Amino acid sequence: MNELSELYQQVILDHNKQPRNFHKLENANCKAEGYNPLCGDRIVIYLQVENDTVRDVSFEGSGCAISKASASMMTESIKGKTRAQIESMFQNVHQMMTTSPDQEPDLNGLGKLAAFSGVREFPVRVKCATLAWHTLLAALENKHDPVSTE
Ligand code: ZN
Repeated sequence: MNELSELYQQVILDHNKQPRNFHKLENANCKAEGYNPLCGDRIVIYLQVENDTVRDVSFEGSGCAISKASASMMTESIKGKTRAQIESMFQNVHQMMTTSPDQEPDLNGLGKLAAFSGVREFPVRVKCATLAWHTLLAALENKHDPVSTE
């Protein structure tokens, strides 16, 4: 394992152990549930959205280290962002996670989320890492049906 992936591993373990924004948001006006049956990850995302901008975000749920760390880091990255900004962030994240392992992914503008570039070596884990994002987009659209990655 090289130094960079070791550092990324540490970031993911840290967020799994101490997830940020891990609670129910009392004044949420958008909410969605997500489920990844492949791994058993479950998540609820709460949002407080004002003028198309995410003012506050939190999550609850249970799942593997990747799904929890991904949700935790995502909540840190999207506060104050508009829906359009969040959609383009997710496109970048998704592109990074699905770049073939023998190519260099484009990590521009991803910041700490670059920690998830390692999941592209484990295609099954991509669903764990994107569950929070899919659920977030559903919450932004205020969909009431639970999201499944299947
Ligand atoms: Zn998982």
